[in-house]
Amino acid sequence: MKTLETGVRNARNVGRYLFGRGGLDQLDSILRSRREMSENGVVFFVDEYFENNSNLVSRLSIQSGDRLKFISTVHEPTTDYINSLRDELVADGMAAPCAIVGVGGGITMDSAKAVSNLLTNGGRAEDYQGWDLVKIPGIYKIGVPTLSGTGAEATRTCVMTNKRSGLKLGMNSDFTVFDQIVLDPDLTATAPRNQYFYTGMDAYIHCIESSAGYYRNAIGDAYSRETINLCRQVFLEGDMMAAHNREKLMVASYLGGCAIATSYVGVVHPFSAGLSVVLGIHHCVGNCITMRAMAEFYPEEYSEFWKMVELQNVEIPSGLCKDLSDDQYDRLYESTVVHEKPLTNALGEDFKSILTREKVKELFQSM
Ligand code: ZN
Repeated sequence: MKTLETGVRNARNVGRYLFGRGGLDQLDSILRSRREMSENGVVFFVDEYFENNSNLVSRLSIQSGDRLKFISTVHEPTTDYINSLRDELVADGMAAPCAIVGVGGGITMDSAKAVSNLLTNGGRAEDYQGWDLVKIPGIYKIGVPTLSGTGAEATRTCVMTNKRSGLKLGMNSDFTVFDQIVLDPDLTATAPRNQYFYTGMDAYIHCIESSAGYYRNAIGDAYSRETINLCRQVFLEGDMMAAHNREKLMVASYLGGCAIATSYVGVVHPFSAGLSVVLGIHHCVGNCITMRAMAEFYPEEYSEFWKMVELQNVEIPSGLCKDLSDDQYDRLYESTVVHEKPLTNALGEDFKSILTREKVKELFQSM
């Protein structure tokens, strides 16, 4: 197979990471130096899943002058939502906090990244959807994942949907990368089992897609190899949520995030994006649903994926695209084939001769 150059830019990784069980308790000391530099408090964005978890909230050592906002995870972030979070902080006298801390899954971490950039750069979130449009560094940002898999803690993007234009695209920028992350595997212990699986599979799927693509580079390949290796250990050997496996999956998520920063995804992500845009299905479960239709594109990984589902005894929704209207199938087709770069990566430049309108409809119907 002929490989193509990804043309990786001068890559940037997170500033610092702290890894280990109980690591959350060191957040306070990390924040101390930020507090000494400014009179302004810290903004905490916490996944609403923890709203009634007083133990987690008390460990954040929130002080007077700080703000705590629970982030809704019913829908993935829209540009309007990011704008409203920023407007709320400004109206509350928190236009320049000394730090923003995002504690939660991909939605919460992405919201923290986006608001951090928006507070210093001004304008509206939709102004920065694209590549390298953010002009100056955002507010110092810290990511604390409570789910492993999306790699949001490692990447230079934060995904948002503009409802008016239908554009689902992040602020791809070096300034979107977290200054600090705290990787504490104890924080994923209370995740719902199905959600834990769906999110973890995002790391696996990113890396099987990039490893099978035409666009390749040695660094992306190395990150992908180890991510897949760790995912196999987590999901094929014993209980995926055992302490040692939660530790491994947190590492896989971080490395998987580094992998996609230097490579491209393949067939799964475009179909999952279609499910998201047309039916509002969240990213990670959308990937798993898409795997129902991937036997011909990723035969070995398809078998392995379904073996993992069976071993871990999780449920993947089915039949969601069986009886849709012609208009919905048309929109699914459009919102899938619009992802030219990953589809070219997986199938070559002639991908539309493989993914015809009829073929795409059949694949969705088989999910
Ligand atoms: Zn993904």
